[in-house]
Amino acid sequence: MKPDRCWCCRAAVLLATGLALATSGVSAVAHLRSGVRGVSLATKQASNPLLDPGQFPNFAGVKPEYMKPAVEERLKDGAVQLKTMEDFLASKENEVVPYDELVLPLERLYEHVGKPWGMISHLKSVRDTPALREVSAEMQPKVTAFWQGVSQSKPIYQALVRLNASAGFAELPEARRRVVHSELLDRKLGGVALQGEAAVEFNGVQQRLGTLSTEFSNHVLDATKAWNLTVTDKHTVRGVPARALAAMAAAAKASGEHPDATAEKGPWVLSLDGTVLGPVLTYAEDRDLRERLFRVSAKKASSGPSDNTGTIGQILASRQREAELLGFGSFADLSLASKMAKKEEVHKLLSDLGTKAKPAALRDDQELRDFAKSKDQSMTDLKHWDRGFFAEKLRQERYGVDSEKLRVYFPFPGVIEGLFGLASRLFDATVEPADDAAPQLRWHEDVRVYRVRRAGFGGAPATEGFLAFDPYVRSNEKRPGAWVQPLVARRHLEGAGETADPVAVIVCNFPQPQGGQPSLLSLGEVETLFHEFGHALQHVLTVQNEAPVSGLNGIEWDAVEIASQFMEYWVELDRTTLYSFAKHYQTKEPLPDETYASLRKAMHFRAGTMMTGQVFMGTVDLRLHEKYQKGEDANAIAKQIAKEVLVVQPLPEARLLCSFSHIFAGGYAAGYYSYQWSKVLSADAFSAFDEAGLDNAKKQTELGRKFAATYLGLGGGRDPAKVFVDFRGRSPTSSALLRYSGLAGEDSPPAGLL
Ligand code: ZN
Repeated sequence: MKPDRCWCCRAAVLLATGLALATSGVSAVAHLRSGVRGVSLATKQASNPLLDPGQFPNFAGVKPEYMKPAVEERLKDGAVQLKTMEDFLASKENEVVPYDELVLPLERLYEHVGKPWGMISHLKSVRDTPALREVSAEMQPKVTAFWQGVSQSKPIYQALVRLNASAGFAELPEARRRVVHSELLDRKLGGVALQGEAAVEFNGVQQRLGTLSTEFSNHVLDATKAWNLTVTDKHTVRGVPARALAAMAAAAKASGEHPDATAEKGPWVLSLDGTVLGPVLTYAEDRDLRERLFRVSAKKASSGPSDNTGTIGQILASRQREAELLGFGSFADLSLASKMAKKEEVHKLLSDLGTKAKPAALRDDQELRDFAKSKDQSMTDLKHWDRGFFAEKLRQERYGVDSEKLRVYFPFPGVIEGLFGLASRLFDATVEPADDAAPQLRWHEDVRVYRVRRAGFGGAPATEGFLAFDPYVRSNEKRPGAWVQPLVARRHLEGAGETADPVAVIVCNFPQPQGGQPSLLSLGEVETLFHEFGHALQHVLTVQNEAPVSGLNGIEWDAVEIASQFMEYWVELDRTTLYSFAKHYQTKEPLPDETYASLRKAMHFRAGTMMTGQVFMGTVDLRLHEKYQKGEDANAIAKQIAKEVLVVQPLPEARLLCSFSHIFAGGYAAGYYSYQWSKVLSADAFSAFDEAGLDNAKKQTELGRKFAATYLGLGGGRDPAKVFVDFRGRSPTSSALLRYSGLAGEDSPPAGLL
């Protein structure tokens, strides 16, 4: 489970598709606003790279002074185009305006206005500067207001309604029907169909929700900042890793009170920040210290000026009202209206996973208690703050894998070769360096451009796309994490003379190469690379011709992580793939067999405990958004659910929901289940290869081509439930995920060990 990474991926995809607008209370317009070759709209400032009409976004020459004029010019153009479009549609108010005259101009509007802003947003995440931030903050409200106007345009909405209801609509290709449905749904959820008092109330609720969500995350931030503990005695922090001690000493220095603080001698400032809390609870030998941090953390943002208790109630009540105004029974119904999963499927998923995981979680608990007692006679009553600590000791004793020491086997250039090799072996995709073909995509000298090609097959066209890959950490200007951003969406319009090849960006934060030594990745970073590459391949190997649903565009929120998580399994479970690159960067010795065996066994460590935790959060999220009654105590509901799902109950004073930002300040409201949903589907997809025999080259080739034709090719242009059946030949089941997590029972060994 790597929620942070998936969060980043989703956030990046949403930013590119305009859904970032939703955070400011504006209806989502789910389209990539990208550049397209042959677009007929003239640019007045050809010398401004942000307005460059070329095939590739031109980052190379962008300067801060170009930004405001570019965005303003496009907003002005956009306002004229929108007015022209609305006048045209108003003149046809009793007619069905065909797709080409309604949706294609809308698409061009998205691209024309969205391109410079999309480029600025991207640069902000990889080459941030004060000047850039200033322009961005100044322009944001104008950009938001413009898209709000487009999203709430009644003539456009009415024309979409008529097209959707017309006799000829069923004759449109599925991709085009999905574009129209998505346009309609986004607008409906933005309240465009509401009239009179309902419309006024809806706008008020939307604004209130925007404010409440900001308030929630501010409270969490403030509560995190408000608590710290200065430790001067080295004995107190014994066991804490050097990396965390360095961060704590840096915090002491930054406070201004301890200018001479060092990682070795202190003082150390402990805080509730994840980079400190995690290492202390996992490694600190001092039981009292662990208890202190655990107790404060469990109650975070639940009292004083940063109390989120009331905020949660208001958010839930406002969401319920928002759903009612839009004609839904609950906010869960509203949220799931734009997702792949149906409500009953989510209930079944959580219930099935919970049932399977609980016996394993009970065993985990007993095992941990026994282990702790064997190490320390006084541990007769294992407390919450002892669990992480002894679990890590048990993990080390049992598997003995030190992830830092494994880095020498994963030099970045070798891993990339192995990854490209897998893309060729499975998907018949050729990835080759192409810096010279698109130098304008290189916003930094570390960025490498690749061309990805695939021959046509089974009636599908040959495809060509580009990847711009920015691999290394630059903490002074690049956002942490790893993500993929679609920059240009594939489009091919017969007869209109328009073709655009897709371009995707992969951003990671791997260690910089040092003194002739290549960047050495951890196994987790290798999996991250495969994960992001899966997203990127889905964007550049698309065969869809309609930009709003080609590549990553138009894929449902809970289906967007399937292709990426699928790629991770090749690192975790396919020995051939792992050993194609797992070689010592100096001696070229392969990863030792015994290390590999330990890594495989460690995959199942405490899987039951982790799964029950995920099921708990997913169930609480769904319950709160399905049946919330004004005035109910959300934390009490969470505790009730904990009794059913969890083996270890939260502390009596715990107020876990008060810092559950995913659902109260992120995009996961009635959507937390998505993590497990996409894991079920990706595991089930991978299991097709596993069942065919991972060493059966012929079968692997066949299945790889099929995966490319379905998952990678069809993207948002086809119902994701149908895409799954296209590939797998049946509906998904959770048995593969349970098997790969070691939760299927004694008689189900993991892949590759069959
Ligand atoms: Zn992802």
